[in-house]
Amino acid sequence: MEIQDLNQEIRNKYLERMEPKSARELSASWAGEDLLYSGKGNAIFIILPTPGCAHALSATGGCTMCSYIADSPLETVSSDELVDLFKSSLNKFDIRPKTVVKIFVSGSFLNEDEIPRDARDEILKLLNKEENVEEVVVESRPEYVTEGILKACCSLILDKIFEVSIGLESNSDYIKEYKINKGFSNEDFERAINVIKSLKSDYKITSKAYLFVKPILTSEKEAIEDAVTSAKYAEEVGVDRISFCPATIHKGTLMEVLWRRGSYQPPWIWSIFEIIKRVRNSVKIPVIMDTSGFGTRRGPFNCKKCNKKLKNLIIESNFDQSIPEEFECECKVKWEADVEYSDLSRSNTLLSDKI
Ligand code: SF4
Ligand SMILES: [Zn+2]
Repeated sequence: MEIQDLNQEIRNKYLERMEPKSARELSASWAGEDLLYSGKGNAIFIILPTPGCAHALSATGGCTMCSYIADSPLETVSSDELVDLFKSSLNKFDIRPKTVVKIFVSGSFLNEDEIPRDARDEILKLLNKEENVEEVVVESRPEYVTEGILKACCSLILDKIFEVSIGLESNSDYIKEYKINKGFSNEDFERAINVIKSLKSDYKITSKAYLFVKPILTSEKEAIEDAVTSAKYAEEVGVDRISFCPATIHKGTLMEVLWRRGSYQPPWIWSIFEIIKRVRNSVKIPVIMDTSGFGTRRGPFNCKKCNKKLKNLIIESNFDQSIPEEFECECKVKWEADVEYSDLSRSNTLLSDKI
C-alpha cells in the first residue's frame, strides 16, 4: 500500500539522521496535576525507553503522525536497566496522596518484546509499595491486551486502579487505515475492551481511549465530526474515559512532510473548543483534552491574542469536566470560514491567512 511505503521511507530517512542516544538520556519524568477517578490529584509521568514500538518498527512504518520511535534507543534495554531507570525517575518525586503514575513506553507496555515480563513485574511491585498511588496508567496496542497479561499485571497491584490506554484515534476504520496507518480495526479494539470489561469483577481495571484530532487528509469540519462521533463510539463500547490528542507536528513523520509542503495544518483551537463542548454535552464518561503544543508553530493554533486564554479554559474544564464558558475573539470568523469551506479545500491549506 502506497501510504505505508511512503511512511516507511520517511521514517527510515529520519532514523538514519538521528543521533543515537542511550536509554538513560532518553528516559524522562515530570509531575503535574491531573484528573483521577477520585477527582483532581497529582500525576507523575515517566518515559521509559524501550527497543521501540513494534508497529513503528514493522514494514508499515507505524502511524503517520507519531515519532515516538525517536524516543527509543532502538536496541535492547535490559530488564535491570529498565527497572533502574524507573526507580530513579520515581524517586525524584515526593509522592503525595491521590497520585496517578503514568508510564509511557513510546509503544506498548503490555508487549513483552518491548517491556520484558520481569521488568514489568518489578515496576508494578515497586508501585504497589507506594500507598499514595491510586492509579497506574499504561499504554498498549489492542493486540497485546490479553486476559493472561492483564491478570498478571492487576494481581501485583490489587488495591490500585490499573488503566490500559489504547490509541483508537478514530472510530472510522477508513481513517485508521488510510490516514493514520494504525494497523488495527474497531473489531480489534472492541475485543481488547471486552477483555478488560470481563476482568472488572475481580480487579480494579479500567480502559481509556486516545482519540486523535485531525489526522492528515482531513478537513477541519471532518476532524470535528470525527472526534465527536468517535467519543460516542468509545463510550458505547464501554471505555471508562477518553483522552483527546489534538495533532501536533512530530519530526520525521508523513504529517510533517505534508505540513512542510503546505498540505496540512494542525486544528484550530476553536475546533478543539467546539469538540469539547459537544462531547461533554453528549458523553457521560470523563473526557480529557490534551493541550500540549497549543499555540506553538507545530501545534493547534488560534491567534496570539487568544491562544493562551483558550488553552487555560480547556485545562480548567478538564479538572471539573465542565463545558468551558463561551469566549469571543476576532479570529473566530476565520475559523468559521475554514470550517464552512474546509470540505472544498480538504485541509490542504487554510482559506484564511496564516496567523
Ligand atoms: S501512535 Fe502508538 S502505535 Fe502508532 S506508531 Fe506511535 S507508539 Fe506506535
Ligand atoms: Zn483569537
